[in-house]
Amino acid sequence: MAPNPLRNIPSVTQILESPAVRGLAEKISHNVVVDRVRTFLDEMRVQFRDAAADANLPTLAELADRIARYIQHSEQPRLRPVINATGILLHTGLGRAPLAKAAIDDLVAVAGDYASVEIDLASGKRSQRVDAVEGLVRQLTGAEAAAVCNNNAGATLLVLAALAAGREVIVSRGQLIEIGGSFRLPEVMAAGGATLREVGTTNKTRISDYGQAIGPQTAALMQVHTSNFRVVGFTESAALEELVRLGRKHSLPVIDDIGSGALVDFAQFGCRDEPVAAESIRTGADLVLFSGDKLLGGPQCGIIAGRKDLVKKCASHPLMRALRVDKLTLAALAATLRLYRDPEVAQREVPLLTMLTTPPENLMGRAQRLAEQLRGVAVVKSAEAVADVTYLGGGSVPTQQLPTWCVLIEPVGMSVDDLSRELRSGTPAVMGRVQQDRFLLDLRSVPPRHDRDLLTAVEAIGKRTGSGASDGEQTREPPG
Ligand SMILES: *Cc1c(COP(=O)(O)O)cnc(C)c1O
Repeated sequence: MAPNPLRNIPSVTQILESPAVRGLAEKISHNVVVDRVRTFLDEMRVQFRDAAADANLPTLAELADRIARYIQHSEQPRLRPVINATGILLHTGLGRAPLAKAAIDDLVAVAGDYASVEIDLASGKRSQRVDAVEGLVRQLTGAEAAAVCNNNAGATLLVLAALAAGREVIVSRGQLIEIGGSFRLPEVMAAGGATLREVGTTNKTRISDYGQAIGPQTAALMQVHTSNFRVVGFTESAALEELVRLGRKHSLPVIDDIGSGALVDFAQFGCRDEPVAAESIRTGADLVLFSGDKLLGGPQCGIIAGRKDLVKKCASHPLMRALRVDKLTLAALAATLRLYRDPEVAQREVPLLTMLTTPPENLMGRAQRLAEQLRGVAVVKSAEAVADVTYLGGGSVPTQQLPTWCVLIEPVGMSVDDLSRELRSGTPAVMGRVQQDRFLLDLRSVPPRHDRDLLTAVEAIGKRTGSGASDGEQTREPPG
């Protein structure tokens, strides 16, 4: 009978004592490392049980090396920084907007210590969490009062629960949107206990449609910005001022969900039809709702700004307790809002605005330089700068097209998908764009300080995989 290869698999102790693994126990944790070594060897036994008797076992050193890589890989946090070379500036999968330096500094400053979240330091008395930002929101939107919660979906839920539970809210059929696959306005309204009263048709809704639907059950009129689609052709919708006039006549609040949260006019950056919070308040909306991490370029949160009595109703509703934000969000939001007091400062300091407004010539120069450098890298067959178009947001603002420049990379010894996967699993992780079997690094969404990191990331693939053939999977799954 042929010798059983299972007998030659090293013991857990042998692996733990090997030079490659020995140091890890001290660095990570003895228990974690023992556990990982066991898992790896167990799976290896399963594989070799079915393999031919003369299957090649790796040497002890090779095996220890592989296990060390597996352990190091499994120790990487699942949530880690990514260089976004997809070109999509507000990529929900990549956490939407990166924060401004001032926001990061303030967030870090309160992170490791206690903070004056609900204490007024001057009087020593209990204060409101929203005090950290309310003055700024009022100043930037012209609203009387503001509240902040977990996100804009939460803001919508809270507002409907506080103002319209058990009653009707009138919304145009053309604005019953779904955003990001999980925010469906009709479902959020139902969760808030409000009954949706749809009026008009998909492409046309007139102010008279709202007027005819008003009855004793009506609690509010609502307008929702159709951030992620556009109806073209024969369309008609009621203007906000018409809704405001109608609302005033019937003493009904008008709620304006503007979605993206523009605090400045984005038309100057080539983005049309993005409602500005201050404009909505000026027109007379009673409450304006928007996200903190879309066009505002701050942390994830939902901002409710508007009439004092209505904001108070929302803020004192029990759901507010469930949706409240923590000190990290408050610190980052306050710092971001402070930058907006001077729009030029905001454009320079808020990464989203900086990247959005980078002139194409600038991106072209960077793409050409990077392409040139990449041509010298082992896994690169060809690299060239190409002009292309990208979008402001994937799920959130996909209708806004932006001119951009990319580096088109043709790999050698691996497929486009291999290249894409290797870049995603490197450190730092890089997400590019695969488009019609072509691999692109889009510089629209890459801050210039990361250009060098892109080069290093592609160089590192050659080092990880030797000749260029991928063995990356072996470090991800237990045995190869
Ligand atoms: C994005 C968006 C939402 C949801 O906001 P989140 O902050 O992602 O919860 C709601 N309404 C509109 C119009 C939006 O664009």
